[in-house]
Amino acid sequence: MDIRRPIALLLFLSLLPAPAFAWGRLGHWLVGELASYNLNPRARAQVELLLKGEQDPTLAGIASWADDLRGNDPERFKATSRWHYINAKGGGCAFDPERDCKDGGCVTRAIEEQVKILADKSQPLQARRDALKFVVHLVGDAHQPMHAGNRDDAGGNRFQISLRTPIQPEEYARKNYVDGVMGTNLHSVWDYYILASAGLNPKQYARKLHRQVPSAHAVGADSAPLAWAGESCSLIDAHQLYPQQHVMTHAYLDAMRPLAEQRIIEGAERLAELLNTALK
Ligand SMILES: [Zn+2]
Repeated sequence: MDIRRPIALLLFLSLLPAPAFAWGRLGHWLVGELASYNLNPRARAQVELLLKGEQDPTLAGIASWADDLRGNDPERFKATSRWHYINAKGGGCAFDPERDCKDGGCVTRAIEEQVKILADKSQPLQARRDALKFVVHLVGDAHQPMHAGNRDDAGGNRFQISLRTPIQPEEYARKNYVDGVMGTNLHSVWDYYILASAGLNPKQYARKLHRQVPSAHAVGADSAPLAWAGESCSLIDAHQLYPQQHVMTHAYLDAMRPLAEQRIIEGAERLAELLNTALK
């Protein structure tokens, strides 16, 4: 075996930029888990049927599938990478699908399209299964404020952050973690570090958030993806998500965690409502 090839591959991989595309695994897992508590029996049975044969046949278990395509099916990931976010190109938080979903789509349109496939029983099972996986993931993404902003920085991916933290970074980012300081960006802080810094395992976290659900019923009946994205966008300025400086401590993570958790809860509620309607 030619030893140079794996080395070349490793070198290549380490040079690839790895922008974050979503709540990290934990965030998506929580949205799926909390939503599963609120499925009606009919939707629950449909989910079971659609996910039969999956390694982890639960909403939580498939919630990161759309991100995992990056490694498992790069072509498909590329074709769907714009489905994970929307950017208000005109500034403000009024998204315009005609303007903002050009060139490969956006999260709000993708949710609407995938829900249609999911609800259509004349579609092949495989198509509906994939649609379910996309919907579970993308409803989570639409609730992550950094996935629906209006700045010209790729959803905070280009807003550099130097974070002092004991939290081990996700695998792909290990090389940027030196002497307890993580070189990252605001998007990744929201995807990963805010929730990870709660120090809870997924089950514990789901229990904690589930107890908060009744008080979180300011969710509202508005189930339009465009409205969820608009909310996400408004939160960015209303809660000053962009820090004054690029050096960050856990004080920021602690201050923002309640908002991130609220968005997880809201995302889960909307997802359950959406599935209950689509799978009736
Ligand atoms: Zn995503």
